[in-house]
Amino acid sequence: MLMRIGGVDAESENDNWIPVINPATGDEIDRVPAGTKDDVKRAVAAADTAFSPWKKKTQRERGMILLRAARIVREQHKDLARLLTTEQGKPLRESIDEIRGYANILEFYGGISAAQKGELVRLGATGDALITREPLGICGAIVPWNMPVLIMGWKVGPALLAGNTLILKPASSTPLTTIRLAQILEDAGLPPGTLNVVTGPGEVVGEAMAGHPSIKKLSFTGNRATAQRIREHAAGSLKELTLELGGSDPMIVMADADIDQAVEGAIRGRFYNAGQTCTAVKRLFVHESIAMEFSRRLKQKTEALKLGSGLDIETDMGPLNSADQRERISSLVDRIRDNRQGTIVTGASSPEGTAYSRGFFYKPTIVTDVESTCGLMTEEVFGPVLPVMLVPDLDTAIHEANRTSYGLGASIWTSNLHSVKRAFDEIHAGIIWVNRHLTVPPEVPFGGMNESGLGRENGLHALESYSRTKTLLLGW
Ligand code: NDP
Repeated sequence: MLMRIGGVDAESENDNWIPVINPATGDEIDRVPAGTKDDVKRAVAAADTAFSPWKKKTQRERGMILLRAARIVREQHKDLARLLTTEQGKPLRESIDEIRGYANILEFYGGISAAQKGELVRLGATGDALITREPLGICGAIVPWNMPVLIMGWKVGPALLAGNTLILKPASSTPLTTIRLAQILEDAGLPPGTLNVVTGPGEVVGEAMAGHPSIKKLSFTGNRATAQRIREHAAGSLKELTLELGGSDPMIVMADADIDQAVEGAIRGRFYNAGQTCTAVKRLFVHESIAMEFSRRLKQKTEALKLGSGLDIETDMGPLNSADQRERISSLVDRIRDNRQGTIVTGASSPEGTAYSRGFFYKPTIVTDVESTCGLMTEEVFGPVLPVMLVPDLDTAIHEANRTSYGLGASIWTSNLHSVKRAFDEIHAGIIWVNRHLTVPPEVPFGGMNESGLGRENGLHALESYSRTKTLLLGW
Protein backbone atom coordinates (compact mmCIF):
# COMPACT_ATOMS: atom_id res chain seq x y z
CA MET A 1 0.00 0.00 0.00
CA LEU A 2 1.07 3.57 -0.55
CA MET A 3 0.97 6.59 1.74
CA ARG A 4 -1.93 8.98 1.54
CA ILE A 5 -0.91 12.59 0.98
CA GLY A 6 -3.20 15.32 -0.35
CA GLY A 7 -5.97 12.81 -1.04
CA VAL A 8 -3.92 10.59 -3.37
CA ASP A 9 -1.76 7.49 -3.06
CA ALA A 10 1.79 8.67 -2.61
CA GLU A 11 5.11 6.95 -3.05
CA SER A 12 8.05 8.18 -1.05
CA GLU A 13 10.67 10.53 -2.43
CA ASN A 14 13.14 7.65 -2.13
CA ASP A 15 12.61 4.06 -3.20
CA ASN A 16 12.94 2.33 0.16
CA TRP A 17 10.16 0.13 1.51
CA ILE A 18 9.16 -1.41 4.83
CA PRO A 19 7.78 -4.98 4.70
CA VAL A 20 4.60 -5.68 6.65
CA ILE A 21 4.77 -9.13 8.25
CA ASN A 22 1.93 -11.44 9.33
CA PRO A 23 2.92 -12.25 12.94
CA ALA A 24 1.18 -15.64 12.80
CA THR A 25 3.21 -16.91 9.83
CA GLY A 26 6.24 -14.65 9.46
CA ASP A 27 5.20 -14.03 5.81
CA GLU A 28 5.44 -10.63 4.15
CA ILE A 29 1.88 -9.57 3.30
CA ASP A 30 2.53 -6.14 1.84
CA ARG A 31 4.98 -3.27 1.99
CA VAL A 32 4.74 0.47 2.55
CA PRO A 33 7.09 3.31 1.63
CA ALA A 34 9.86 4.13 4.09
CA GLY A 35 8.93 7.82 4.16
CA THR A 36 11.45 10.63 4.61
CA LYS A 37 11.65 14.10 6.07
CA ASP A 38 10.68 15.44 2.62
CA ASP A 39 7.53 13.32 2.64
CA VAL A 40 6.60 14.92 5.97
CA LYS A 41 7.14 18.33 4.36
CA ARG A 42 4.86 17.34 1.47
CA ALA A 43 2.20 16.19 3.93
CA VAL A 44 2.50 19.46 5.88
CA ALA A 45 2.05 21.43 2.64
CA ALA A 46 -1.08 19.39 1.80
CA ALA A 47 -2.46 19.83 5.32
CA ASP A 48 -1.74 23.55 5.16
CA THR A 49 -3.68 23.97 1.90
CA ALA A 50 -6.59 21.96 3.31
CA PHE A 51 -6.73 23.83 6.63
CA SER A 52 -8.53 27.05 5.73
CA PRO A 53 -11.52 25.49 3.90
CA TRP A 54 -11.81 22.76 6.56
CA LYS A 55 -11.81 25.33 9.36
CA LYS A 56 -14.55 27.29 7.56
CA LYS A 57 -16.91 24.33 7.59
CA THR A 58 -19.31 24.26 10.50
CA GLN A 59 -18.67 21.76 13.26
CA ARG A 60 -21.87 20.03 12.20
CA GLU A 61 -20.62 19.61 8.62
CA ARG A 62 -17.41 18.12 9.92
CA GLY A 63 -19.34 15.86 12.29
CA MET A 64 -21.52 14.56 9.45
CA ILE A 65 -18.38 13.37 7.62
CA LEU A 66 -17.26 11.47 10.73
CA LEU A 67 -20.70 9.87 10.99
CA ARG A 68 -20.67 8.84 7.32
CA ALA A 69 -17.19 7.35 7.73
CA ALA A 70 -18.37 5.41 10.81
CA ARG A 71 -21.23 3.95 8.76
CA ILE A 72 -18.86 2.76 6.01
CA VAL A 73 -16.51 1.29 8.63
CA ARG A 74 -19.39 -0.65 10.16
CA GLU A 75 -20.44 -1.90 6.71
CA GLN A 76 -16.89 -3.07 5.98
CA HIS A 77 -15.99 -4.20 9.49
CA LYS A 78 -15.32 -7.83 8.57
CA ASP A 79 -12.80 -7.01 5.83
CA LEU A 80 -11.16 -4.36 7.96
CA ALA A 81 -10.91 -6.76 10.91
CA ARG A 82 -9.24 -9.40 8.72
CA LEU A 83 -6.72 -6.86 7.51
CA LEU A 84 -6.02 -5.77 11.09
CA THR A 85 -5.57 -9.37 12.29
CA THR A 86 -3.27 -10.14 9.38
CA GLU A 87 -0.91 -7.28 10.17
CA GLN A 88 -1.25 -7.16 13.97
CA GLY A 89 -1.87 -10.78 14.99
CA LYS A 90 -4.83 -10.41 17.38
CA PRO A 91 -7.82 -12.78 17.17
CA LEU A 92 -10.49 -11.78 14.69
CA ARG A 93 -13.06 -11.12 17.41
CA GLU A 94 -10.69 -8.62 19.08
CA SER A 95 -10.09 -6.96 15.70
CA ILE A 96 -13.86 -6.68 15.23
CA ASP A 97 -14.07 -5.11 18.71
CA GLU A 98 -11.40 -2.64 17.75
CA ILE A 99 -12.89 -1.71 14.38
CA ARG A 100 -16.31 -1.22 15.98
CA GLY A 101 -14.64 0.73 18.78
CA TYR A 102 -13.16 3.05 16.15
CA ALA A 103 -16.58 3.55 14.55
CA ASN A 104 -17.96 4.23 18.01
CA ILE A 105 -15.40 7.00 18.56
CA LEU A 106 -16.24 8.68 15.24
CA GLU A 107 -19.94 8.42 16.13
CA PHE A 108 -19.32 9.98 19.52
CA TYR A 109 -17.53 13.00 18.05
CA GLY A 110 -19.90 13.22 15.08
CA GLY A 111 -22.81 13.02 17.53
CA ILE A 112 -21.71 15.94 19.71
CA SER A 113 -20.97 18.20 16.77
CA ALA A 114 -24.32 19.95 16.88
CA ALA A 115 -24.05 20.67 20.59
CA GLN A 116 -20.84 22.70 20.58
CA LYS A 117 -21.32 26.25 21.83
CA GLY A 118 -19.26 29.26 22.81
CA GLU A 119 -19.61 31.29 26.02
CA LEU A 120 -20.90 34.75 26.74
CA VAL A 121 -19.53 36.53 29.80
CA ARG A 122 -21.56 39.55 30.91
CA LEU A 123 -19.14 42.21 32.14
CA GLY A 124 -21.76 44.68 33.29
CA ALA A 125 -22.04 48.21 32.02
CA THR A 126 -18.58 48.16 30.45
CA GLY A 127 -19.31 45.42 27.97
CA ASP A 128 -19.55 41.71 27.28
CA ALA A 129 -17.10 39.05 26.24
CA LEU A 130 -17.76 36.38 23.63
CA ILE A 131 -15.53 33.34 23.93
CA THR A 132 -15.26 30.91 21.06
CA ARG A 133 -12.97 28.02 20.33
CA GLU A 134 -10.93 27.69 17.18
CA PRO A 135 -8.74 24.89 15.80
CA LEU A 136 -5.00 24.87 16.36
CA GLY A 137 -4.03 24.30 12.71
CA ILE A 138 -1.99 21.34 11.47
CA CYS A 139 -1.70 18.57 14.05
CA GLY A 140 0.36 15.39 14.15
CA ALA A 141 -0.47 11.91 15.45
CA ILE A 142 2.00 9.09 16.09
CA VAL A 143 0.37 5.73 16.73
CA PRO A 144 1.76 2.40 18.06
CA TRP A 145 1.10 -1.12 16.78
CA ASN A 146 -0.80 -2.65 19.68
CA MET A 147 -4.20 -0.97 19.13
CA PRO A 148 -3.50 0.90 15.90
CA VAL A 149 -7.12 1.47 14.94
CA LEU A 150 -8.58 2.47 18.28
CA ILE A 151 -5.70 4.83 19.03
CA MET A 152 -6.03 6.32 15.54
CA GLY A 153 -9.67 7.07 16.42
CA TRP A 154 -8.72 8.73 19.71
CA LYS A 155 -6.62 11.21 17.75
CA VAL A 156 -8.46 11.60 14.44
CA GLY A 157 -11.97 12.02 15.92
CA PRO A 158 -11.40 15.09 18.12
CA ALA A 159 -8.70 16.64 15.90
CA LEU A 160 -10.88 16.65 12.79
CA LEU A 161 -14.09 17.65 14.54
CA ALA A 162 -12.32 20.64 16.09
CA GLY A 163 -11.35 21.79 12.58
CA ASN A 164 -7.68 20.82 12.42
CA THR A 165 -5.93 19.06 9.59
CA LEU A 166 -3.76 16.11 10.47
CA ILE A 167 -0.66 14.12 9.60
CA LEU A 168 -0.70 10.60 10.99
CA LYS A 169 2.25 8.25 11.27
CA PRO A 170 1.26 4.63 11.95
CA ALA A 171 3.66 2.13 13.52
CA SER A 172 5.82 0.49 10.87
CA SER A 173 4.46 -2.99 11.62
CA THR A 174 0.75 -2.00 11.38
CA PRO A 175 0.21 0.67 8.69
CA LEU A 176 -2.29 -1.09 6.42
CA THR A 177 -5.64 -0.75 8.21
CA THR A 178 -4.77 2.86 9.01
CA ILE A 179 -4.31 3.69 5.32
CA ARG A 180 -7.63 2.00 4.49
CA LEU A 181 -9.39 3.98 7.20
CA ALA A 182 -7.95 7.23 5.87
CA GLN A 183 -9.34 6.37 2.42
CA ILE A 184 -12.72 5.63 3.99
CA LEU A 185 -12.78 9.07 5.60
CA GLU A 186 -12.13 10.56 2.15
CA ASP A 187 -14.90 8.40 0.66
CA ALA A 188 -17.15 9.86 3.36
CA GLY A 189 -16.38 13.38 2.16
CA LEU A 190 -13.19 14.41 3.97
CA PRO A 191 -11.49 16.90 1.64
CA PRO A 192 -8.09 15.91 0.20
CA GLY A 193 -5.16 16.81 2.47
CA THR A 194 -7.27 17.04 5.61
CA LEU A 195 -5.89 13.72 6.86
CA ASN A 196 -2.52 12.56 5.52
CA VAL A 197 -0.85 9.25 6.38
CA VAL A 198 2.95 9.16 6.16
CA THR A 199 4.56 5.77 6.72
CA GLY A 200 8.20 5.25 7.62
CA PRO A 201 10.63 4.75 10.49
CA GLY A 202 9.87 6.56 13.73
CA GLU A 203 13.34 8.07 13.96
CA VAL A 204 12.88 9.65 10.52
CA VAL A 205 9.19 10.43 10.00
CA GLY A 206 8.24 10.76 13.69
CA GLU A 207 11.15 13.00 14.54
CA ALA A 208 10.56 15.15 11.44
CA MET A 209 6.97 15.63 12.64
CA ALA A 210 8.10 16.47 16.16
CA GLY A 211 10.54 19.07 14.87
CA HIS A 212 8.32 20.65 12.19
CA PRO A 213 7.40 24.21 13.22
CA SER A 214 4.07 24.21 11.35
CA ILE A 215 2.70 21.25 13.34
CA LYS A 216 1.01 22.95 16.27
CA LYS A 217 0.17 19.89 18.36
CA LEU A 218 1.50 16.38 18.38
CA SER A 219 -0.33 13.51 20.03
CA PHE A 220 1.93 10.53 20.60
CA THR A 221 1.14 7.09 21.99
CA GLY A 222 4.07 4.82 22.63
CA ASN A 223 6.82 4.21 25.10
CA ARG A 224 8.48 6.52 27.59
CA ALA A 225 11.92 6.63 25.91
CA THR A 226 10.41 7.60 22.55
CA ALA A 227 8.35 10.32 24.25
CA GLN A 228 11.55 11.79 25.64
CA ARG A 229 13.11 11.99 22.16
CA ILE A 230 9.93 13.58 20.83
CA ARG A 231 10.04 16.24 23.55
CA GLU A 232 13.63 17.04 22.63
CA HIS A 233 12.80 17.37 18.92
CA ALA A 234 9.67 19.39 19.67
CA ALA A 235 11.44 21.77 22.03
CA GLY A 236 12.33 24.33 19.38
CA SER A 237 8.81 24.87 18.06
CA LEU A 238 6.41 25.62 20.94
CA LYS A 239 4.26 22.66 20.13
CA GLU A 240 1.54 21.27 22.34
CA LEU A 241 2.16 17.64 23.24
CA THR A 242 -0.14 14.89 24.38
CA LEU A 243 1.91 11.89 25.48
CA GLU A 244 0.09 8.62 26.15
CA LEU A 245 2.75 6.29 27.48
CA GLY A 246 2.96 2.94 29.15
CA GLY A 247 1.43 1.53 32.29
CA SER A 248 1.88 -1.16 34.91
CA ASP A 249 -1.73 -1.42 36.00
CA PRO A 250 -2.45 -3.19 39.28
CA MET A 251 -5.57 -5.32 39.77
CA ILE A 252 -6.59 -5.84 43.41
CA VAL A 253 -8.92 -8.72 44.30
CA MET A 254 -10.39 -8.46 47.80
CA ALA A 255 -11.77 -11.32 49.90
CA ASP A 256 -15.36 -10.21 49.18
CA ALA A 257 -14.95 -10.25 45.38
CA ASP A 258 -16.89 -12.58 43.10
CA ILE A 259 -14.05 -15.03 42.40
CA ASP A 260 -15.27 -16.26 39.00
CA GLN A 261 -15.85 -12.74 37.78
CA ALA A 262 -12.41 -11.66 39.01
CA VAL A 263 -10.67 -14.65 37.39
CA GLU A 264 -12.37 -13.82 34.07
CA GLY A 265 -11.31 -10.20 34.55
CA ALA A 266 -7.70 -11.18 35.16
CA ILE A 267 -7.61 -13.47 32.10
CA ARG A 268 -9.10 -10.84 29.82
CA GLY A 269 -7.16 -8.05 31.51
CA ARG A 270 -3.81 -9.71 30.97
CA PHE A 271 -4.14 -11.94 27.90
CA TYR A 272 -6.38 -9.81 25.64
CA ASN A 273 -4.29 -8.81 22.61
CA ALA A 274 -1.59 -11.21 23.93
CA GLY A 275 -0.95 -8.81 26.79
CA GLN A 276 0.02 -5.95 24.47
CA THR A 277 -2.32 -3.34 25.88
CA CYS A 278 -1.24 -0.23 27.73
CA THR A 279 -3.91 -0.76 30.39
CA ALA A 280 -3.48 -4.54 30.63
CA VAL A 281 -3.45 -6.04 34.13
CA LYS A 282 0.29 -6.07 34.69
CA ARG A 283 0.38 -6.85 38.43
CA LEU A 284 -2.28 -8.89 40.22
CA PHE A 285 -2.74 -8.60 44.01
CA VAL A 286 -5.05 -11.20 45.57
CA HIS A 287 -6.26 -11.26 49.17
CA GLU A 288 -4.58 -14.22 50.84
CA SER A 289 -7.83 -15.63 52.26
CA ILE A 290 -9.09 -16.48 48.73
CA ALA A 291 -5.71 -16.96 47.09
CA MET A 292 -5.72 -20.74 46.90
CA GLU A 293 -9.10 -21.03 45.20
CA PHE A 294 -8.48 -18.00 42.99
CA SER A 295 -5.09 -19.32 41.83
CA ARG A 296 -6.48 -22.77 41.06
CA ARG A 297 -9.21 -21.36 38.82
CA LEU A 298 -6.82 -18.83 37.23
CA LYS A 299 -4.33 -21.55 36.27
CA GLN A 300 -7.06 -23.78 34.90
CA LYS A 301 -8.55 -21.02 32.73
CA THR A 302 -5.16 -19.82 31.55
CA GLU A 303 -4.15 -23.29 30.42
CA ALA A 304 -7.47 -23.63 28.56
CA LEU A 305 -6.74 -20.61 26.34
CA LYS A 306 -6.29 -21.68 22.74
CA LEU A 307 -3.31 -20.17 20.96
CA GLY A 308 -3.30 -19.85 17.21
CA SER A 309 -3.58 -17.66 14.16
CA GLY A 310 -5.93 -14.77 14.79
CA LEU A 311 -7.80 -15.73 11.61
CA ASP A 312 -8.82 -19.05 13.18
CA ILE A 313 -12.23 -18.49 14.76
CA GLU A 314 -11.35 -20.80 17.71
CA THR A 315 -8.30 -18.78 18.73
CA ASP A 316 -8.33 -17.08 22.14
CA MET A 317 -4.85 -15.60 21.95
CA GLY A 318 -2.79 -14.79 18.86
CA PRO A 319 0.95 -14.32 18.41
CA LEU A 320 2.94 -11.35 19.64
CA ASN A 321 3.27 -8.60 17.07
CA SER A 322 6.94 -9.16 16.16
CA ALA A 323 9.91 -11.46 16.69
CA ASP A 324 11.59 -8.70 18.76
CA GLN A 325 8.55 -8.43 20.98
CA ARG A 326 8.57 -12.17 21.68
CA GLU A 327 12.32 -12.11 22.32
CA ARG A 328 11.85 -9.33 24.89
CA ILE A 329 9.19 -11.32 26.75
CA SER A 330 10.94 -14.67 26.67
CA SER A 331 14.25 -13.26 27.88
CA LEU A 332 12.47 -11.48 30.75
CA VAL A 333 10.83 -14.74 31.84
CA ASP A 334 14.10 -16.65 31.41
CA ARG A 335 15.85 -14.15 33.69
CA ILE A 336 13.18 -14.66 36.36
CA ARG A 337 13.61 -18.43 36.17
CA ASP A 338 17.43 -18.33 36.06
CA ASN A 339 17.74 -15.87 38.94
CA ARG A 340 14.98 -17.56 40.97
CA GLN A 341 13.06 -14.29 41.20
CA GLY A 342 9.68 -16.03 41.04
CA THR A 343 7.91 -19.36 40.63
CA ILE A 344 6.59 -20.24 37.17
CA VAL A 345 3.07 -21.64 37.52
CA THR A 346 2.32 -22.19 33.85
CA GLY A 347 3.53 -21.16 30.39
CA ALA A 348 6.99 -19.59 30.12
CA SER A 349 7.87 -20.92 26.66
CA SER A 350 6.83 -20.79 23.03
CA PRO A 351 4.29 -23.45 22.04
CA GLU A 352 5.54 -26.35 19.95
CA GLY A 353 4.09 -27.78 16.74
CA THR A 354 3.93 -26.86 13.07
CA ALA A 355 1.05 -24.41 13.59
CA TYR A 356 3.37 -22.27 15.71
CA SER A 357 6.73 -22.82 14.07
CA ARG A 358 6.91 -19.64 11.97
CA GLY A 359 4.85 -17.17 13.99
CA PHE A 360 5.77 -15.17 17.09
CA PHE A 361 3.76 -17.16 19.67
CA TYR A 362 4.35 -17.28 23.42
CA LYS A 363 2.29 -19.21 25.95
CA PRO A 364 0.17 -17.32 28.49
CA THR A 365 2.32 -17.34 31.60
CA ILE A 366 1.65 -17.00 35.34
CA VAL A 367 4.38 -16.28 37.88
CA THR A 368 4.01 -16.22 41.69
CA ASP A 369 6.34 -15.44 44.64
CA VAL A 370 7.70 -12.58 42.56
CA GLU A 371 10.54 -10.48 43.99
CA SER A 372 9.66 -6.82 44.03
CA THR A 373 12.92 -5.90 42.29
CA CYS A 374 12.42 -8.15 39.25
CA GLY A 375 11.57 -6.77 35.81
CA LEU A 376 8.00 -8.01 36.01
CA MET A 377 7.36 -5.53 38.81
CA THR A 378 9.57 -2.62 37.77
CA GLU A 379 9.18 -2.49 33.96
CA GLU A 380 6.15 -2.30 31.72
CA VAL A 381 5.72 -5.88 30.48
CA PHE A 382 4.03 -5.80 27.11
CA GLY A 383 3.19 -9.48 26.70
CA PRO A 384 1.22 -12.40 28.18
CA VAL A 385 2.96 -12.72 31.56
CA LEU A 386 0.97 -12.26 34.74
CA PRO A 387 2.66 -11.90 38.14
CA VAL A 388 0.38 -12.80 41.07
CA MET A 389 1.11 -11.54 44.60
CA LEU A 390 -0.76 -12.28 47.82
CA VAL A 391 -1.75 -9.44 50.14
CA PRO A 392 -3.08 -9.63 53.73
CA ASP A 393 -5.22 -6.47 53.57
CA LEU A 394 -6.26 -3.44 51.56
CA ASP A 395 -3.55 -1.21 53.07
CA THR A 396 -0.85 -3.49 51.71
CA ALA A 397 -2.61 -3.87 48.36
CA ILE A 398 -2.83 -0.10 47.87
CA HIS A 399 0.75 0.39 49.01
CA GLU A 400 1.98 -2.26 46.53
CA ALA A 401 -0.26 -0.94 43.75
CA ASN A 402 1.40 2.45 44.07
CA ARG A 403 4.92 0.98 43.93
CA THR A 404 5.40 1.91 40.28
CA SER A 405 6.58 4.91 38.36
CA TYR A 406 3.52 4.54 36.09
CA GLY A 407 -0.06 5.59 36.78
CA LEU A 408 -2.30 4.70 33.85
CA GLY A 409 -5.11 2.49 35.21
CA ALA A 410 -5.95 0.24 38.16
CA SER A 411 -8.85 -1.95 39.21
CA ILE A 412 -10.34 -3.17 42.43
CA TRP A 413 -12.62 -6.21 42.63
CA THR A 414 -14.83 -6.08 45.69
CA SER A 415 -18.40 -5.72 46.88
CA ASN A 416 -17.45 -3.22 49.58
CA LEU A 417 -18.03 0.46 48.75
CA HIS A 418 -15.60 1.58 51.42
CA SER A 419 -12.80 -0.37 49.70
CA VAL A 420 -13.81 1.22 46.38
CA LYS A 421 -13.61 4.70 47.87
CA ARG A 422 -10.19 4.03 49.34
CA ALA A 423 -8.87 2.65 46.04
CA PHE A 424 -10.26 5.63 44.15
CA ASP A 425 -8.80 8.15 46.59
CA GLU A 426 -5.43 6.52 47.18
CA ILE A 427 -4.25 4.76 44.02
CA HIS A 428 -2.27 7.01 41.69
CA ALA A 429 -3.79 6.33 38.28
CA GLY A 430 -5.80 8.17 35.64
CA ILE A 431 -8.65 5.66 35.67
CA ILE A 432 -9.86 3.29 38.41
CA TRP A 433 -12.15 0.44 37.40
CA VAL A 434 -14.43 -1.42 39.83
CA ASN A 435 -15.15 -5.09 39.09
CA ARG A 436 -13.89 -4.59 35.53
CA HIS A 437 -10.67 -3.68 33.74
CA LEU A 438 -9.62 -2.50 30.25
CA THR A 439 -12.77 -1.03 28.69
CA VAL A 440 -12.65 2.70 27.94
CA PRO A 441 -15.75 4.19 26.31
CA PRO A 442 -15.21 7.23 24.07
CA GLU A 443 -17.12 9.51 26.44
CA VAL A 444 -14.55 9.41 29.24
CA PRO A 445 -11.15 11.07 29.38
CA PHE A 446 -8.26 8.65 29.14
CA GLY A 447 -4.64 9.19 30.16
CA GLY A 448 -2.19 8.61 32.94
CA MET A 449 -0.32 10.14 35.82
CA ASN A 450 3.42 10.21 36.50
CA GLU A 451 5.44 8.28 33.87
CA SER A 452 2.26 7.28 32.04
CA GLY A 453 2.11 10.56 30.25
CA LEU A 454 0.72 14.02 29.80
CA GLY A 455 -2.71 15.12 28.66
CA ARG A 456 -5.95 13.27 28.02
CA GLU A 457 -7.54 11.62 25.01
CA ASN A 458 -11.19 10.77 24.48
CA GLY A 459 -14.28 12.64 25.53
CA LEU A 460 -14.81 16.37 25.55
CA HIS A 461 -11.39 16.84 27.16
CA ALA A 462 -9.67 15.72 23.97
CA LEU A 463 -11.84 18.00 21.84
CA GLU A 464 -10.77 20.95 23.99
CA SER A 465 -7.14 19.97 23.69
CA TYR A 466 -7.39 20.26 19.88
CA SER A 467 -8.69 23.82 20.06
CA ARG A 468 -7.95 27.10 21.81
CA THR A 469 -10.13 29.91 23.02
CA LYS A 470 -10.48 33.19 21.18
CA THR A 471 -12.20 36.09 22.88
CA LEU A 472 -14.14 39.03 21.47
CA LEU A 473 -14.40 41.86 24.02
CA LEU A 474 -17.29 44.18 23.29
CA GLY A 475 -17.27 47.64 24.89
CA TRP A 476 -20.72 49.19 24.97
P1 NDP B 1 7.26 3.11 20.38
O1 NDP B 1 7.38 4.35 21.15
O2 NDP B 1 8.50 2.39 20.00
O3 NDP B 1 6.48 3.32 19.01
C1 NDP B 1 5.26 4.01 18.94
C2 NDP B 1 5.22 4.89 17.71
O4 NDP B 1 6.29 5.84 17.77
C3 NDP B 1 5.42 4.12 16.41
O5 NDP B 1 4.66 4.73 15.39
C4 NDP B 1 6.90 4.32 16.14
O6 NDP B 1 7.27 4.20 14.78
C5 NDP B 1 7.08 5.75 16.60
N1 NDP B 1 8.46 6.09 16.91
C6 NDP B 1 9.50 5.26 17.18
N2 NDP B 1 10.63 5.98 17.41
C7 NDP B 1 10.29 7.28 17.26
C8 NDP B 1 11.03 8.50 17.38
N3 NDP B 1 12.33 8.52 17.67
N4 NDP B 1 10.38 9.66 17.17
C9 NDP B 1 9.05 9.67 16.88
N5 NDP B 1 8.31 8.55 16.75
C10 NDP B 1 8.92 7.36 16.95
O7 NDP B 1 6.28 2.23 21.22
P2 NDP B 1 6.03 0.71 21.12
O8 NDP B 1 6.09 0.24 19.73
O9 NDP B 1 6.88 0.05 22.10
O10 NDP B 1 4.48 0.69 21.53
C11 NDP B 1 4.02 0.23 22.72
C12 NDP B 1 4.02 1.31 23.79
O11 NDP B 1 2.89 2.15 23.63
C13 NDP B 1 3.92 0.73 25.17
O12 NDP B 1 4.77 1.35 26.06
C14 NDP B 1 2.47 1.00 25.53
O13 NDP B 1 2.19 1.02 26.88
C15 NDP B 1 2.25 2.31 24.90
N6 NDP B 1 0.83 2.55 24.75
C16 NDP B 1 0.22 3.54 25.50
C17 NDP B 1 -1.13 3.77 25.42
C18 NDP B 1 -1.76 4.88 26.18
O14 NDP B 1 -2.81 5.34 25.74
N7 NDP B 1 -1.23 5.33 27.28
C19 NDP B 1 -2.00 2.95 24.57
C20 NDP B 1 -1.27 1.94 23.84
C21 NDP B 1 0.09 1.78 23.93
P3 NDP B 1 7.94 2.84 14.22
O15 NDP B 1 6.91 1.80 14.35
O16 NDP B 1 8.28 3.20 12.84
O17 NDP B 1 9.15 2.58 15.08
